[in-house]
Amino acid sequence: MFNGVVIAAYIIAAVLFILSLGGLSDQEKARRGNLYGMLGMGIAILATIFGPGVQSYWLLMLMVLVGASIGANMARKVEMTAMPQLVAMLHSFVGLAAVLIGFSNTLSLSVDPTHALSGSARTIHDVEVYLGIIIGAITFTGSLIAYGKLTGKLSSSPLSLPARHWLNAGGLVIVTLLAVSFIGESHSLFALTLATLIAFAVGAHLVMSIGGADMPVVISMLNSYSGWAAAATGFMLNNDLLIVTGALVGSSGAILSYIMCRAMNRGFISVILGGFGAPATSSGSGDEEPEGEAIAILPEETAQLLNQAKSVVIVPGYGMAVAHAQHPVSSLTNKLRDKGVNVRFAIHPVAGRMPGHMNVLLAEARVPYDIVLEMDEINEELPETDVVMVIGANDIVNPAALEVPDSPIAGMPVLEVWNAKYVIVSKRSMATGYAGVENPLFFRDNTRMLFGDARDSIEAVLSAIE
Ligand code: NDP
Repeated sequence: MFNGVVIAAYIIAAVLFILSLGGLSDQEKARRGNLYGMLGMGIAILATIFGPGVQSYWLLMLMVLVGASIGANMARKVEMTAMPQLVAMLHSFVGLAAVLIGFSNTLSLSVDPTHALSGSARTIHDVEVYLGIIIGAITFTGSLIAYGKLTGKLSSSPLSLPARHWLNAGGLVIVTLLAVSFIGESHSLFALTLATLIAFAVGAHLVMSIGGADMPVVISMLNSYSGWAAAATGFMLNNDLLIVTGALVGSSGAILSYIMCRAMNRGFISVILGGFGAPATSSGSGDEEPEGEAIAILPEETAQLLNQAKSVVIVPGYGMAVAHAQHPVSSLTNKLRDKGVNVRFAIHPVAGRMPGHMNVLLAEARVPYDIVLEMDEINEELPETDVVMVIGANDIVNPAALEVPDSPIAGMPVLEVWNAKYVIVSKRSMATGYAGVENPLFFRDNTRMLFGDARDSIEAVLSAIE
């Protein structure tokens, strides 16, 4: 393919990626945004395959076929509830790819030095390789640990090693010092390998030190890191599209992290430094038992309360996704609205297991967008609400975040559902949520526990409503 055509294809792909991000910021345009992204990626792949630098077409086609079929198979099978861990795994691939490309680039130059650059061009190239490998290594192990925590294979409690911040800082200082031995004349492969191993350890430790409730920020940070790793790889390979795409992912991930930090009342800088999840003294186990007794309620009694209500707020959480309860919830909403009840949804920014998780589920169940409100919009209206239905949510409605200063979720803004006249919590047991913190809401006088799988419970309520 002519170079001009490749450049034109790169520009079209970059524009489509920008349009895609624009579309994804609005639920109504999200589907179109996804299409732009897919089209852009298709063009980018074709331009790369038929662009300059490709020699072994058969090998490339074989790898693309194997990769695409594994990816398609995984995407087809993955449950909505397992999306965050899939995303974490995909971030780890980006990190590993950056490390492997960096090493192959360095090794190919030492095997065949005829293409080696010299002078300042060489220094700039070495910096690009070094940065790509280090950011990629941190992203790789950090994402693997995030995957372990999200799947429950690793404990969600923070690992609190003594002097953990010094360990991270020390690791990064050594990595910086080793750069001197790699960048420039000496070009030490040993220094590069040692720095990579340290970066692997720092990435794993950064994410291990973060408590369960703070994982949303970690995921968006790793998203951002994977973008910067891709951008550094783009510089390494002289590929403009990879630079642009990496920068788009890196900066949108950083903006998302900032938004998540604000939503969780965490400092952005302390997130970047890692281990901000819980104070070193906190076990994060939520051992403190709330006092009192939980009052159970039956679906028929729930239906009665809803029948009498004038305003109802529904708070969906991770359990709604697990139970696939969004469709019966949507039918319940329609039924109540038909009876003249003012029904709204309250969305916490970290509800579920990925940013926007609940919005996606509600859109899938065709809940009208205009009754889906953000936490800040609805919190002040909760005291005037007759019934709040909490469906499979826990941490995001936990008053301990505001009332217990040494709680692992202390300071996180939550939906203050206890201010409503009645709160009905649909969940299977008294178990804690993702952060592993006991929830005093369940023992409040105005709270009723609707025990059982959320889908079964809501269907039972639905059939009991007149
Ligand atoms: P939680 O994980 O706090 O609580 C979910 C609750 O759902 C559980 O207590 C569970 O109780 C209940 N549940 C599970 N299955 C069912 C079922 N089939 N039917 C009914 N209930 C069920 O979820 P929240 O949405 O309240 O909070 C999200 C948490 O996840 C926060 O701590 C957040 O920080 C974290 N997180 C969020 C991410 C994001 O980007 N949004 C990413 C990573 C983590 P029981 O077992 O008794 O049924």
